[in-house]
Amino acid sequence: MSSETGYRDIDRKARVRQPPVKYAKRPVEERVLDFEEVILGFDEETARAEALRCLQCPDPQPCMSSCPAGNDVAEALWLISQGDFIGAAKVFAATSPLPEVCGRVCPNLCQEGCVLGKYCGAISIGKLEAFVADVARRAGALAIEVPEEKTGRRVAVVGSGPAGITVAEDLVKKGHEITVYEAWPVPGGVLIYGIPSFKLNKNVVLHKIHDLEAAGVKFITNTRIGEAITVDDLLKEYDAVFLGTGAGVEASMNIPGEDLKGIYKSTDYLIRANVPPEMLPPEKREKPVIGRRVAVIGGGDTAVDCARTSVRLGAEEVTIVYRRTEAEMPGNKVERAICLEEGVNIEYLQAPVEFIGDESGHVKAMKVIKMKLGEPDASGRRRPIPIEGSEFIQEVDTVILAIGYWPDPFIGEKTENLATHKWGLIVADEELGTTTREGVFAAGDNVHGPDLVITAIASAHRAADSIHAYLNGKPVRLPEPPPPRRKR
Ligand code: SF4
Repeated sequence: MSSETGYRDIDRKARVRQPPVKYAKRPVEERVLDFEEVILGFDEETARAEALRCLQCPDPQPCMSSCPAGNDVAEALWLISQGDFIGAAKVFAATSPLPEVCGRVCPNLCQEGCVLGKYCGAISIGKLEAFVADVARRAGALAIEVPEEKTGRRVAVVGSGPAGITVAEDLVKKGHEITVYEAWPVPGGVLIYGIPSFKLNKNVVLHKIHDLEAAGVKFITNTRIGEAITVDDLLKEYDAVFLGTGAGVEASMNIPGEDLKGIYKSTDYLIRANVPPEMLPPEKREKPVIGRRVAVIGGGDTAVDCARTSVRLGAEEVTIVYRRTEAEMPGNKVERAICLEEGVNIEYLQAPVEFIGDESGHVKAMKVIKMKLGEPDASGRRRPIPIEGSEFIQEVDTVILAIGYWPDPFIGEKTENLATHKWGLIVADEELGTTTREGVFAAGDNVHGPDLVITAIASAHRAADSIHAYLNGKPVRLPEPPPPRRKR
């Protein structure tokens, strides 16, 4: 660091002219034949070269400000440029318990903030993060350190996705006893059951679960809270309960023919196609049967995941049908570009209005209407408006619906005084993660709706802080319950 300027003395003019260093990807013709990870990422040499492009911007660094978890990107990139990969991984791990996951699946908000985006190209921060985290995890350098002296306070964490993992790690580090409940056979939540292996190898997640177990976190799987065990039961046994159950219930299109054979919901489709049978309950072990022509309805990351999965299952024509334009498409642009490389076609400004079946009740076509864009809606994106009389018939053999996700309303329905609002989202204080039920905290997708892994991590960190305060007897503010719903 320069003592005069407060930041590092480097030749910024030379760095700003350096083109990005490419990371390795598997060739298309090879990768579409299996479910192995597509992005191979950086090695030691290329990682150092890419990190050496960083301008080490003065505070506040745009990359750090753009990351919901506040990762100290500049410091990590400096350490990478010096060859200290484990040191860099520890910098990422100081603010995120899942750097190897975020580096692989986040749409790189930090990267979008990087000032070099206006010049030669933003730094590939995510892929550098994944590289150093893998190096450090393999070396055992990211083991979770816990105090010898325990507090004697017990916390139940419901759900083992990004929010649950964050709360479990934060609290076990403070000496509390943590038990995580997971409805599926293997811990990891959406990281195992929602994100395909060609983006995130399951072993990356299992390694993290192993580290948590080594730190003393206990996992109880195949247990859906609200059934045999309720939140009220947990509150008798534990000092606090955290709900990190995500948003796994799929929205419906509510159009004719949606129940035809050959039409899948995206979550079920991805689980059956991507998750090894030994990680699934017996009724989910059968692989989806798809036809030659597959249409995926939706425009987010899940639609892209379903399309790429269909390519790997052998479909000849895979089309994503999206009702807006590319400019409004949510999700990861890098993954979308990879999807196009793999031969997927995207049709913009279209939406099905009816699915048509054959005599056996199997989908054979869909009636599609063309759209134009109107004024922005509540999401800030321009509203799609159907163009009257523009309908046409598109023949399809398989349809996958990937149009929206909400939390399972089950826990809200089964827990007294736990307020929920639209579509089952849990009412929780944004900053504290407190719910309307004392001792019960919530954060992540079940509070704010489907969002990024890093967003769930950031809100779960805040919830863990207030659980710790609560366990230490400090008063924590509860949210206002919503006004009672009007009876229809
Ligand atoms: Fe480096 Fe880009 Fe962050 Fe500046 S904004 S410190 S160049 S990563």
